[in-house]
Amino acid sequence: MEIKSDYLIIGSGIAGLSFALKAALIGRVAIVTKKETMDASTNYAQGGIASVLDPNDSFDLHIKDTLESGAGLSNEQVVRMVVTNAPDMIKELIDLGVNFSHDNKQADRLDLTQEGGHSRRRIAHAKDLTGQEVERALIYNVEKNRNIQIYENHMAIDLITTSKFIKRGILTNETDETCWGAYVLDIITGEVNTFLSRVTVLATGGAGKVYLYTTNPDIATGDGLAIGYRAGAKVANMEFVQFHPTCLHHPLEKNFLISESVRGEGGRLIDKKGDHFMEHYHPLKDLALRDVVARSIDTELKKSGDECVYLDISHRPRDFITNRFPNIYKTCLELHIDITKEPIPVVPAAHYMCGGLLTDAQGHTNITNLYAIGEVAYTGLHGANRLASNSLIEALVFSRFAFEDSAKMIAVKDNYQFPDVPLWDTGSATDSEESVVVSHNWDEVRRMMWNYVGIVRTNKRLIRAMTRIKVIQQEIRDYYWDFIITRDLLELRNLATVAELIITSAAMRKESRGLHYNLDYLKRDDENWRHDTVI
Ligand SMILES: Cc1cc2nc3c(=O)[nH]c(=O)nc-3n(C[C@H](O)[C@H](O)[C@H](O)COP(=O)(O)OP(=O)(O)OC[C@H]3O[C@@H](n4cnc5c(N)ncnc54)[C@H](O)[C@@H]3O)c2cc1C
Repeated sequence: MEIKSDYLIIGSGIAGLSFALKAALIGRVAIVTKKETMDASTNYAQGGIASVLDPNDSFDLHIKDTLESGAGLSNEQVVRMVVTNAPDMIKELIDLGVNFSHDNKQADRLDLTQEGGHSRRRIAHAKDLTGQEVERALIYNVEKNRNIQIYENHMAIDLITTSKFIKRGILTNETDETCWGAYVLDIITGEVNTFLSRVTVLATGGAGKVYLYTTNPDIATGDGLAIGYRAGAKVANMEFVQFHPTCLHHPLEKNFLISESVRGEGGRLIDKKGDHFMEHYHPLKDLALRDVVARSIDTELKKSGDECVYLDISHRPRDFITNRFPNIYKTCLELHIDITKEPIPVVPAAHYMCGGLLTDAQGHTNITNLYAIGEVAYTGLHGANRLASNSLIEALVFSRFAFEDSAKMIAVKDNYQFPDVPLWDTGSATDSEESVVVSHNWDEVRRMMWNYVGIVRTNKRLIRAMTRIKVIQQEIRDYYWDFIITRDLLELRNLATVAELIITSAAMRKESRGLHYNLDYLKRDDENWRHDTVI
């Protein structure tokens, strides 16, 4: 089947949905999303959205905090753009029906919380379910918009780009690489459909599933990163993977995050004996930046041999805890941990991909008509380390600027025609009776990344990881062409590509900076390495 639209948006998190609502003002929009619309990291965001909203705060302070966190690699112009547009974005969300929590004492003001690395309280939140509330409101508005069609259980496989036609001898007079849409697998029927579009937006989120332990939901397999890279899009700063210091450590709950705002509201990290160990690592103690806290926990665990450390907020009043963190309270209680009375067992886990498809300040990649927004993109905001709660706001600001940029292209109406695009060819692929290859390699990639390319790296570990990933990549390539594609196989192929990009970038950077920490180069080296790693 061939489906034509002005905009093809791949992904239904905050980036894709907020872009769709704007795009629908001027064109027909198709959103493809690989599970149900709600299945996105956005839905899991707890802490909130950073924006200067308090008279005691200022743009300059938010910019300074973001630049400090970025450890010399953030693009100051982009940081300024995001920070100064943030309050408008919060207003837009309120206008769309998002119910943020309000101040107890002044009901007309939003309640603002604080997180590590922020010098002021500036995080707007909806209790500890901010992402769910934002996603709910966006979906509500998208579903009632008649210019938007959502295709659930539809997974993008690869982009349709000019050079694909040239290789097949169909179209030859294009010089620039241009994107015309994507081949998309209908997961229910197994059919591959051709989605043609004048503008294509990758909004596929992050890649936490490349690591064994992650706070990310199952959709976060780095598809957009791999899809863009295969099509020739530039990729930047993939060595900078943020590990969240506090993921719940419990055999029955693998991905549950304990929000940074628990520490913002007085939670303290302690070891098994009750020692408040962050005092020994950083003057900001529990509110030091995430990489510092994650590395400190990693060091403590390696020293003690324990499986986890503990986060204790039980000294705060019970009512405050249950009201401020209802979701964390409920989830922990279901696992027989009463956070009003006892500390929470926690470990670090892969949380956020700071690198991504390289874009300009309008979210445009180096491929004509292809945009990347949200976690899949590297815009220059986060540099070597993302400041907490700066990602939802980045997605919102970039959906605005990418839309405005792309609207110029949609405005040109002169006899627009899509090229003749070849249909997907399954060749001689057959049903596989060897699915164990896929599940084995999934497990191996994630375990190898955790052990060799995790919070603390060394040259030897990176070389080992590179050798392993090459073998796995070859196995996947052989398998991919022989058997009919499935969601698992596509995800594995993408995960392995992302793993290779992370390893390659980590091996290229011969220093420690931000989230990239290599025991063979302990120092930051501004003279030689104050630049992005671009592949
Ligand atoms: C537990 C948790 C807590 C967080 N807390 C915060 C916070 O408090 N503040 C903050 O700023 N950030 C937070 N983050 C980060 C933030 O939530 C994400 O960076 C952000 O939501 C990403 O939005 P997105 O739209 O780019 O991607 P997502 O919300 O992940 O959406 C990606 C979409 O793409 C779809 N997709 C993926 N691949 C394909 C494919 N091949 N074909 C079709 N569809 C595809 C997915 O199904 C999904 O719909 C948190 C993240 C997690 C995991």
